[in-house]
Amino acid sequence: MLKSWKNLWRPRLRGKPYYQGVVTILSMDDLPADIGLNIYLVRRGGTYRWAVLQCPCACGRRVEVNLMRSRYPYWRVRKHAGSISLSPSLWVSEELCGSHFWVKRNRVVWAEFEPPRWTSEGSKLDVRG
Ligand SMILES: [Zn+2]
Repeated sequence: MLKSWKNLWRPRLRGKPYYQGVVTILSMDDLPADIGLNIYLVRRGGTYRWAVLQCPCACGRRVEVNLMRSRYPYWRVRKHAGSISLSPSLWVSEELCGSHFWVKRNRVVWAEFEPPRWTSEGSKLDVRG
């Protein structure tokens, strides 16, 4: 599965989104045991705090993405009608599954050739599973 680098910078957003929906909740405690293919956004006090989603590589891990600027590293969330985008890319530690991908409008864009922006020795994403 060879992809040209141009596709990484201008990802095609055709086809069906991988993640089916976006659900806003008040706290991590409101997460269901099985989050399925929804992206959960924890929003409290007018601030997005976390995005929680299942790793798209089918390893079954839950990826918790910090959206709070008070913690490092943090990611930015952009809302669209019924979907979200996250930036920069998400990278799960090599010891786990090593997935490195972008979430763009609920689609998964694999970022195989681009070095992670935040860290070279391992992701600081919180991963459960
Ligand atoms: Zn994975």
